[in-house]
Amino acid sequence: MKNSKTGFLLIFRNIIPAVIIAAGFFSCRNPSSTSDVISFEAMNTFMSIKCFGKKASMANKAAKSKILQTEKLISVTDTESQIFKINNSSDTESLLTEELDFLISQSLDAAVKTNGAFNPFLYPITKEWGFTTKNYHVPNDARIKELLPLTDYNKAHKKGNVLFKAPGMQLDFGGIGKGFAGDLAIETLKENGISSAVLDLGGNIQLLGKKPDGNDWNIGLRNPWKADAEPVFALKLSDCAVITSGGYERFFTGDDGKEYIHIFDGKTGRSVDNELVSVTIITKKGITGDLLSTALFVMGKEKAMDFWKKSPDYDFEMILLCKDNSAVLSEGIEKRITKLADFSKIEICKKQ
Ligand code: AMP
Ligand code: MG
Repeated sequence: MKNSKTGFLLIFRNIIPAVIIAAGFFSCRNPSSTSDVISFEAMNTFMSIKCFGKKASMANKAAKSKILQTEKLISVTDTESQIFKINNSSDTESLLTEELDFLISQSLDAAVKTNGAFNPFLYPITKEWGFTTKNYHVPNDARIKELLPLTDYNKAHKKGNVLFKAPGMQLDFGGIGKGFAGDLAIETLKENGISSAVLDLGGNIQLLGKKPDGNDWNIGLRNPWKADAEPVFALKLSDCAVITSGGYERFFTGDDGKEYIHIFDGKTGRSVDNELVSVTIITKKGITGDLLSTALFVMGKEKAMDFWKKSPDYDFEMILLCKDNSAVLSEGIEKRITKLADFSKIEICKKQ
């Protein structure tokens, strides 16, 4: 493995958000409003929150603290976290706190609705590939065959606030945690009287309300091919989450020279390698955007388009960027978008 190069790439690619706020955001001013920006590291990424209002500074501190608390709840490596305890207990029954109960219910439901593309029980696989220990390697077929039965989400269910799972099953909320934390942070901002804020949680953007001047926020979707290039699209949005999953965000290079990304197909136990470079989901809640961005990335372009057309369960828009430099836009987002880069093709996904 090319560890040093990989390490650099991991860090380098991690600090550049998948979605960036377009020029103009940080200079957004309104004389009647005070604002505060808070930046910090959490959930293995850089986060920043800008909010507007009289209690902006206090609200930001409370939102940061909520995110850190959420990290403490779901971290797979923090020995004090509830998830660590559930993952490492020989008990097959776990009593869930209210927040974990909600997260697990949403995750199990998503696993069923996406036919396993989103699978919250992939920790035995993600750990084996080294994505939590940084001991990156490509497991052999026998090892994957041994681990796959432990990821079968059908062997888990919830009854009231108790989770029942088969021995050895372990949760990994990497695919949903930041969106969930973003929703909780937004609730905290609202409780503190804030009605206008932008949260950049490692490239996941969550917008509370509109800009203080009443206009939509301007969001730039970063160029996944060239980190320092102009955004590929500019979007005008308010009160929603813009969540991206991309292979370029975290990966390692194997001895065979191939890049292996951090998103896995639960059916094969292998790192996903399809025609997609990134999936961006635009929807009301961070938790929904986060689980869908991961799931649609696993599905690949055609199935993702089909899912958008047919899913009665989720209301969302999407932007798919593909390796052949083409893009797919769902028809609802098309009118909010300005193209800033050249694409080989832009396909509009329509309901009929
Ligand atoms: P995201 O960047 O939101 O797509 O999340 C990727 C993270 O989710 C990975 O680092 C894993 O922790 C976890 N993960 C990987 N594959 C899946 C999957 N198929 N379903 C759910 N979580 C996954
Ligand atoms: Mg996700």
